[in-house]
Amino acid sequence: MAADADDSSADVGIIFAIEHEAGFLTIEHAHAHALPKPWGIVDLRPWSKIRQEDHPIGEIWYERADANASNSSLLLKLLFTNQPLSIQVHPGDAYARSIGLPRGKSEAWYILRAAPESKIALGLKGPLTSQQLREAIDTGSILDLVRWQSVSPGDSIFVPAGTIHSIGAGLVIAEIQQRNDATFRLFDFGRQRELHRERAIAVAAAGPVGIAVSPSQLTEQRTLLTANEHFVFEKIDLPPNTAWNLEAERETWFLIVDGTARIGSLDVTIGDVMFMQADRADIQSGSIGLVGLVAYTGGDLAPQLLERREQRDLINAGPQGIPVAGFPQAKAIATNESLDIIK
Ligand SMILES: [Zn+2]
Repeated sequence: MAADADDSSADVGIIFAIEHEAGFLTIEHAHAHALPKPWGIVDLRPWSKIRQEDHPIGEIWYERADANASNSSLLLKLLFTNQPLSIQVHPGDAYARSIGLPRGKSEAWYILRAAPESKIALGLKGPLTSQQLREAIDTGSILDLVRWQSVSPGDSIFVPAGTIHSIGAGLVIAEIQQRNDATFRLFDFGRQRELHRERAIAVAAAGPVGIAVSPSQLTEQRTLLTANEHFVFEKIDLPPNTAWNLEAERETWFLIVDGTARIGSLDVTIGDVMFMQADRADIQSGSIGLVGLVAYTGGDLAPQLLERREQRDLINAGPQGIPVAGFPQAKAIATNESLDIIK
């Protein structure tokens, strides 16, 4: 069985647990692992400063800061492509369990950057029998049978288990997936890695897929990208210098994709990821606002995910200097005990 994972990951993150009480209430600055891939890129900015000229990085995986923490059921990644990924398919829960894996793998993508003409492949142009699919894998004609489509920054795509898919060159993608690395390859663009013909045939829905995803606006700040039984994927967009509570009852991953913020006592910017569970984070957006992607388990929407904090709470809550409306010349130092205004 294949796994696109390997052990050659390089640590590029800093472990920073803001608050971690008895493994229950949890907010962590996630740990980033960079994975070299034959189809990766060298310059990862602004997502990461890591640079290894002879080892292109294809993926950054975000992990719980505490290596002994219980495994999450979702995995958040960034993908960087300089060549297409293999044409591949992932198993659903039932097949995955039949081969000893804890769960299947459905995934969703959010396009962060796309060179002109960048494409992804999703499903086939027409239905194939198992025998036709076998021949298409053996001869490589599967390359002409998948349905390629153009993508642009801001597009979101849901890829349910069983969907034959690929990601073309020139893309930076945020991916949320069920945590399972079972990937069955059907075609590898001449890279000589192993193919997994029979397992791919066993799990593939060998035909066109109708999985149009159109984002829907939940509130002024929340946009639903996609929701399914395994996870919910949202984009949040906070105006400059505003204060919010992010309520994470479930396992929740939060990737900053633009702007800056202070979350708890930590300053975060593009490429930072927070992991949260059964906890609430105070977010103070920076001077250009904050755009983030939030993924959480459960399938149904979390109605209280994001709530604006009252100005009174803002003044009383912050451990650091926070701009106070109405005092443009003043610097405020707020603590839980008192508020001092320094002219
Ligand atoms: Zn995949």
